[in-house]
Amino acid sequence: MGAVTAIQAIRYARHERKAAENFTTPVDDHDLPMPLDYYVWAIHRDGHPPVIVDTGFGAAAAAARGREITRPIRKGLRDAGIDRLGVTDVILTHLHYDHAGGLTDFPNARFHVQDAELAFATSRHVCDHETRAPFDGEPVAELVRRLYADQVVFHDGDEDYAPGIGLRLVAGHTAGLQAVVCETERGAVVLASDAAHLYANLTRRVPFPIFIDEAQYVRAQERVLALAGGSLDHLIPGHDPLVLACFPSENDIARVDLAPHTPITEML
Ligand SMILES: [Zn+2]
Ligand SMILES: [Zn+2]
Repeated sequence: MGAVTAIQAIRYARHERKAAENFTTPVDDHDLPMPLDYYVWAIHRDGHPPVIVDTGFGAAAAAARGREITRPIRKGLRDAGIDRLGVTDVILTHLHYDHAGGLTDFPNARFHVQDAELAFATSRHVCDHETRAPFDGEPVAELVRRLYADQVVFHDGDEDYAPGIGLRLVAGHTAGLQAVVCETERGAVVLASDAAHLYANLTRRVPFPIFIDEAQYVRAQERVLALAGGSLDHLIPGHDPLVLACFPSENDIARVDLAPHTPITEML
């Protein structure tokens, strides 16, 4: 039996968009709708508070970027049975606005981030407006404030976070993107975050068009799939509506530690 007893994918926002916006190269179905969902994840183990993976974004970022919040993070966590004030540890897969925008919802947590990610997000690369676009300054500034309050834990490359939970630096999309590998009763489940926005990015072998190193991004996609044993059913992308459609779910919360009721490959 795996050390991880449950993993929840909690949807909080959505963005309607066309397929063409989700791939680096032209696609045949470019004009078809291919919306993105936005999630935070909660990893449960016996005897520990849940580890939260990513923090989402709030109303201001949603308004500024034209995203629709389907349920505020605080309410989503409550509906998932999680007391956010009791959360002691949050893993940040990376610092894009939709993953790091809710740090203040976790006043008592330590934030786990890759060295390369915070270094990049506070470096001269931010002066380039295209590179900066998916980041917001305030979440990065908040993380620096937390650093000075001893609430940041740095990780350098692949590390074991805790029994049954591993961090894997895959980069490409950002400098320090980390995937989270969870040992569950059905084997490894990989929270790939934006190493794969959508299952289709993996099956088409074409990444999402936001990256700092495209070749590294392709390798990141290959790596998260390998970490999942080559099985899409064991890989949870960062933004795919199929997660809610295929895994046992209720009230926009999917249990991704359980096997999907419909194999992902049947939906693609
Ligand atoms: Zn991202
Ligand atoms: Zn994202």
